[in-house]
Amino acid sequence: MTAAKAGKIVGMRLGRLSIPLKKTFKTALRSTASVLTNILEIQTDCGAVGYGEAPPTAAITGDTDGSIWDAITSRVWPAIAGMDISELNDAISAAEASCVGNAPAKAAVDIALHDLWGKLNGLPLYKLLGGTAREISTDFTISLNQPEEMANDALEALRNGYMALKIKVGGDARLDIERLKAVREAVGPKTPLRVDANQGWQPKEAIRSIELMENLGLDIELVEQPVPYYDIEGLKRVTDSVGTVILADESVYSARDALKLISLRAADMINIKLMKSGGIAGALKICAIAEAAGMECMIGAMMESKLSVTAAAHVAQARRVITKYDLDPPILCAEDPVEGGALYAGSSITLPDAPGLGIDGIAGVEWM
Ligand code: MG
Repeated sequence: MTAAKAGKIVGMRLGRLSIPLKKTFKTALRSTASVLTNILEIQTDCGAVGYGEAPPTAAITGDTDGSIWDAITSRVWPAIAGMDISELNDAISAAEASCVGNAPAKAAVDIALHDLWGKLNGLPLYKLLGGTAREISTDFTISLNQPEEMANDALEALRNGYMALKIKVGGDARLDIERLKAVREAVGPKTPLRVDANQGWQPKEAIRSIELMENLGLDIELVEQPVPYYDIEGLKRVTDSVGTVILADESVYSARDALKLISLRAADMINIKLMKSGGIAGALKICAIAEAAGMECMIGAMMESKLSVTAAAHVAQARRVITKYDLDPPILCAEDPVEGGALYAGSSITLPDAPGLGIDGIAGVEWM
């Protein structure tokens, strides 16, 4: 392999991107009709550009467009400007140390740096991370609605070639059971059903609901984030009380959170998202901790464009401890403004052989 080209970080620009969804996305926490996100471009002195992304998901991460833009322009960008892409780890440490929190802002920078690192080394990112191309298959999210509408949406998803479904619940616990019964009845016994309560239940309510799912034979593959994110003791109580696999999402952002959750065995699996971990480097740390503990991970995303979802797909290809994939935002969108990047065919996701993320450009960005 030839040595990586030098690439001094010399410039950046930020822009806004809005992509309409095919159908309003509804969870226990929020409802949205479009993906509204921020796109970052980092430029080097050799003319290469790297792309990153940071959607504001205030209801989950607390980040807004304003906080993301300010964190990038006043803290994270000044910390890395002038460094060389070949000093990737130092640049990521500098970005991490530039401010507390602000995971999406850091993720945008981290993703753009990894994109450039791949480009300057001439390899797709997952290969540079030691990964091998393999079949990955995303689930498809069914929004929180009335049982009949959710059953119809589930049937339509199967007709469109999606194999596993993620069912959003977390409203009224009794109605949630009706939702799951309606979906299971509609799709038959073979479709894997993942349930995401998005913090919508209290521990006892969660235990009662999950036991009921078990007793009704609904065959639920896993239940994600049954209780509020801060209630780690409650999450552990649920995990210890039921036979169903419990997946932590909003309770785990960073590697430090993962270490604590695993040491308490408060959940059976962790859902990794780049917007929680502050990007790829943080996600890889969680993978290492989970692997050491013998715990499998899911990789997911916020409502993001295909840009940062492609970055997540590279992480998925690079680490075998990730065994479940929840990377459906691009298929929930009515348009795809991202040129290149992950290729979707039904549930299946493949990555292009191009260097870095394999993204050629993004249409419709309002650059500032
Ligand atoms: Mg979730």
